[in-house]
Amino acid sequence: MHFLKVESDSCTGCQTCLDVCFVNAISFDENEEIPFLAYPEDCQICAVCEAVCPENALEIIPDWESRYYPEILSTGRRS
Ligand code: SF4
Ligand code: SF4
Repeated sequence: MHFLKVESDSCTGCQTCLDVCFVNAISFDENEEIPFLAYPEDCQICAVCEAVCPENALEIIPDWESRYYPEILSTGRRS
């Protein structure tokens, strides 16, 4: 299962990572005030969440052994 590693000391809770996730795989833990990967099966391992974090506070940890591989979102070739 893919995992989102969050440095809670660095995370400011801005939720930019939630906004950019195009499959809405990330949710925000209001108690801990940090994001978490709520739907790892939907994660496409694009690493955009990691790239946009202004605090460099998160890292996507892919589980290459799991059955949750990125899926082809479009089966038809666009011209
Ligand atoms: S973008 Fe970075 S600082 Fe903002 S909520 Fe996500 S992990 Fe925290
Ligand atoms: S790696 Fe991409 S798909 Fe996965 S949680 Fe981050 S933004 Fe969403």
